[in-house]
Amino acid sequence: MPPLLDLPALLAIARRSSAVSQPCNCISKPLAGWEGWPVTLREAQLEQVGTLAALPREEATLDEYHPDGTSYWSIEAPIAPAFYPYNLCGVWACRECGRAYLRYNDDGAYHSESRIRALDPELISAAQ
Ligand SMILES: [Zn+2]
Repeated sequence: MPPLLDLPALLAIARRSSAVSQPCNCISKPLAGWEGWPVTLREAQLEQVGTLAALPREEATLDEYHPDGTSYWSIEAPIAPAFYPYNLCGVWACRECGRAYLRYNDDGAYHSESRIRALDPELISAAQ
């Protein structure tokens, strides 16, 4: 099982990620906000380095955290691990460049979609 990441651990991964400058195909599609899985990205290119899912899915809140009027899709939306959908996310790193991403599966009534968002240290929030 990937380790449960607390806020300092998440921040450390995010800061390392934001310091990466080498070109990589994992940034060919902008992932500042939530996106579907990029067709250019192979699943095996990312490896899971941790999880933010402190609770089982059925116990995790569906409340979102948007104190500044952002929405789920906003590229400025806070990354608040205590809130949906971050409370379901795994933290993944690109094997080629080391950039870090959040991933979870958005399970609808009829289909499940894999979503991905870049891990930006400036957006991480300790809100509870
Ligand atoms: Zn990469």
